[in-house]
Amino acid sequence: DDAGVPGRVRVAVRLRPRNAEEMVADADFADCVELQPELKRLKLRKNNWDSDTYEFDEVLTEFASQKRVYEVVAKPVVESVLDGYNGTVMAYGQTGTGKTYTLGRLGEEDTAARGIMVRAMEDILADVSQETDSVSVSYLQLYMETIQDLLDPTNDNISIVEDPKTGDVSLPGASLIEIRDQRSFVELLRSGEVHRFAANTKLNTKSSRSHAILMVHVKRSVKGRDSALSSNNGDNSHKVKSLKPPVVRKAKLVVVDLAGSERIDKSGSEGHTLEEAKSINLSLSALGKCINALAENSPHVPVRDSKLTRLLRDSFGGSARTSLVITIGPSPRHRGETASTIMFGQRAM
Ligand code: ADP
Ligand code: MG
Repeated sequence: DDAGVPGRVRVAVRLRPRNAEEMVADADFADCVELQPELKRLKLRKNNWDSDTYEFDEVLTEFASQKRVYEVVAKPVVESVLDGYNGTVMAYGQTGTGKTYTLGRLGEEDTAARGIMVRAMEDILADVSQETDSVSVSYLQLYMETIQDLLDPTNDNISIVEDPKTGDVSLPGASLIEIRDQRSFVELLRSGEVHRFAANTKLNTKSSRSHAILMVHVKRSVKGRDSALSSNNGDNSHKVKSLKPPVVRKAKLVVVDLAGSERIDKSGSEGHTLEEAKSINLSLSALGKCINALAENSPHVPVRDSKLTRLLRDSFGGSARTSLVITIGPSPRHRGETASTIMFGQRAM
């Protein structure tokens, strides 16, 4: 199992159950996919007698619990962030297939329903020291190549700064809120959602047309290796060594709830603009190119093409871990969109 190995993108597919509308409208038809989770295979139906078979790192059926989805999609990435490596978890798929359900559910009414963001923070808070470590978060919306702060709605044009030497990305204008307990984190996610809804109402758009990005910065102080080793020495030399300042280790976890991957028609008939359609296509195709480059072990990852990929620059390649969950629905009426989501996932592997 190479869950913790950097470089390669881990890709899981998750199928959502039929919803009430599909139970009725698709009653006489089979699902467009058939899952073989133990073989990590998915069959996409071509017609009544033929289908194409695809393999993924993990195949999550409509019965997979939120806990299991967290464990296979995000936990290895969270663990490597706690060890000091940047990590990314992304959900890609058509609107209505469960991206937000998978990543963003708060689960206040039912803890079993908690999504990846909440579970990740729980694991992080359980592992860090309240005395010597710090955990802080930013929560952003990326819409039409503009970054808005979901923790401060007055802040609607945040710029990305890249360190030319290290390649580290920072967002100096974004709110960075220190998190000490799970309750205040859930509160913060909820207020972020409220701001997101308000901003999108004002702009007359839908949240499915923007990316929501949670960044969790984990700063830990690790005792120098020398001082740890020297503590067994009986003389007082270890005292000198342990005066060495602890090493500060920084890493971030980025969780991205991507804009809906469906082709939105460019006529504007559904209340969106041509610019909106172009912008989503631009960022998702730029993302696709970057993760294809990672999959092919290419030395050149083309991060410059969009704000989304510039933002993720220090989370791609090197020692960073990336996990992608593609979400699909069962309806045969959306077979075309489902097929294109599956292809996006396949190209990432
Ligand atoms: P997206 O964010 O991709 O647009 P949502 O997460 O909003 O999709 O999901 C659309 C609807 O389907 C919601 O009502 C959600 O509760 C439901 N849903 C999604 N995934 C699942 C699942 N695995 N099990 C049960 N319901 C789901
Ligand atoms: Mg959503």
